[in-house]
Amino acid sequence: MKQTVIVTNRIEKPALEKLESHFNVTFFTGSDDLNNQDFLNDLKIAKGLIGLFIEIDADFLDLAPNLKIVSTISVGYNHLDIKELTKRGIMATHTPDILNDTVADTMIALLLATARRIPELDRYVKNKEWTSLIPTELYGEDVHHKTLGIIGMGRIGHVIAQRANLGFDMPILYNSRTRKPEAEERFNAKHLELDDLLKQSDYIILITPLTEETEGMIGKREFDLMKDTAIFINGSRGATIVENDLIQALNDKKIKAAGLDVYNEEPVEVDNPLLKMNNVVTLPHIGSSTLATELAMSMHATEDAIRGLTGQKPKSLINNETYKEK
Ligand code: NAP
Repeated sequence: MKQTVIVTNRIEKPALEKLESHFNVTFFTGSDDLNNQDFLNDLKIAKGLIGLFIEIDADFLDLAPNLKIVSTISVGYNHLDIKELTKRGIMATHTPDILNDTVADTMIALLLATARRIPELDRYVKNKEWTSLIPTELYGEDVHHKTLGIIGMGRIGHVIAQRANLGFDMPILYNSRTRKPEAEERFNAKHLELDDLLKQSDYIILITPLTEETEGMIGKREFDLMKDTAIFINGSRGATIVENDLIQALNDKKIKAAGLDVYNEEPVEVDNPLLKMNNVVTLPHIGSSTLATELAMSMHATEDAIRGLTGQKPKSLINNETYKEK
């Protein structure tokens, strides 16, 4: 009998078809599944779980006694309790590298859109307000040659640095727990303590994972350290910043503008004050969302789930200690 694999939330069609050729696959939307008896029944027998953004902790795992592998279609895995999965011998996989270029493109697009006020000026034209030369108050800021601070010089951070430094002649400052010789050599990036980076950068891109250490790492104190002309971009996760402190910093003009792909709550609440601010550019968490990249991520997660459930080592295993060679 085929093993049961549950897909939650979203997967691209070719990946779903590939999964179906190996397993008995059931699909759930990811919302309110824990109140759905069909989901709970399948969870009892499921060997694999693949998809997006479902919170997996000890309580959840108690409902899934046969689970062998969890494959998230994302590089970030803050929604997975890795310690608990490892304790139970359950493999966890993610999709690193495949999305680096696409996410870096999104971050640069968000930076350009925020600095040059693209969405605001788009509305200006479409609202038929462009009746003569535009007032200088609507001018944006240059991006080229401005100093970019990257917090989180990892796989994606390096590609952002490449675009910014080689494409836009931006001097690069960075902060990460360890020095990155490749970025220092290729992009002349300078490693700084976080406070110094915040003080010296014209623009700041936050692209760390969400961990216990990074949760709330950018709050009032950090916004106060930034230049009042700074533009802050968050591409990591909503909870790496204190969102209310960002709102306050923007209201108090402690920083100039922000570009956001991620929020404390997603989808963002309709009455979130950030949505009313012209100097805030908002995206609906689409860092990696192009068809090609989402398909590649779905395929990678699918192939890793197949590997894990057929005795081979998944390529992007997070908790290596769970793989036992036969
Ligand atoms: P990665 O290669 O693991 O890089 C993460 C970087 O963050 C590393 O340089 C790491 O430093 C640094 N870091 C970790 N903790 C830190 C801390 N306390 N202070 C300073 N730096 C810290 O990960 P990645 O593939 O680049 O992805 C990064 C994150 O981007 C993901 O985890 C996810 O949250 C986010 N993301 C968002 C989207 C989106 O759609 N918006 C898409 C993809 C990814 P060390 O190397 O020194 O440990």
